[in-house]
Amino acid sequence: MYDFIGIGVGPFNLGLACLTDPVDELDGLFLEARDELAWHPGMMLDDATLQVPFLADLVTMADPSSRWSFLAYLKETGNLYPFYIRESFYPLRREYDDYCRWAADRLDSVRFGQAVTEVVHDGEAYVVRTATGEEHRGRRLVLGVGTAPCVPEALRGVVSTSSTTEGGSTTELSSATEASGVSVRSRWPASRSAWRTSWRASSMVRPVVSTRTSASSGSS
Ligand SMILES: Cc1cc2nc3c(=O)[nH]c(=O)nc-3n(C[C@H](O)[C@H](O)[C@H](O)COP(=O)(O)OP(=O)(O)OC[C@H]3O[C@@H](n4cnc5c(N)ncnc54)[C@H](O)[C@@H]3O)c2cc1C
Repeated sequence: MYDFIGIGVGPFNLGLACLTDPVDELDGLFLEARDELAWHPGMMLDDATLQVPFLADLVTMADPSSRWSFLAYLKETGNLYPFYIRESFYPLRREYDDYCRWAADRLDSVRFGQAVTEVVHDGEAYVVRTATGEEHRGRRLVLGVGTAPCVPEALRGVVSTSSTTEGGSTTELSSATEASGVSVRSRWPASRSAWRTSWRASSMVRPVVSTRTSASSGSS
């Protein structure tokens, strides 16, 4: 039986996996539905950075000596000097995605392709079942499945979820809005990771929105 089972491997549970990795007394297992780590797939915009400096990586604020730090990743991949010389302590979103992938691929406790479909408590432990038929037992459960997409009330009338691209869902404005000459598209991951609150939606959606008017074919 595991001491704990983490469900979902995004930055939240990945940080826990990194921090507990050197603790011999703890035996944890992390189950991720995707076949590999993907932080916000489809949103790796060129030159876009995180909103926080590299110190807010998976481990440093809790354990600055961890081997899973962003600096350790830079060193191991030969990018320490390029990062330093760039004179920005804000990692690129692409770098952060690659950093998370680097850590996840090296942690024995992380298993991909394991979508959790059922969790029950049998009176002694949590029994966690996955889509592939695996069953694991753990004394504790750590949920890190991200947030659920939410369309702000004010946009409910004009937004509809439609086709799927690159494993993510595409949300587009309805024909009523397009008739006004404006076409707006935004994409986010198909996973539960998305917008919990409308303020977050407005701040997150801005970088990926492209606007086209009938009078102009340019985008912004
Ligand atoms: C568009 C966008 C941009 C953002 N930009 C930033 C930023 O620049 N800086 C910042 O600090 N924060 C940012 N955030 C906040 C974001 O919440 C965090 O960056 C981070 O992704 C949250 O990590 P998480 O592990 O909680 O969830 P997620 O990253 O969403 O990971 C959850 C994981 O759980 C998996 N999962 C879900 N259900 C199951 C299941 N049943 N079984 C197994 N696995 C499952 C999913 O596949 C996914 O991999 C952004 C969020 C969004 C939506």
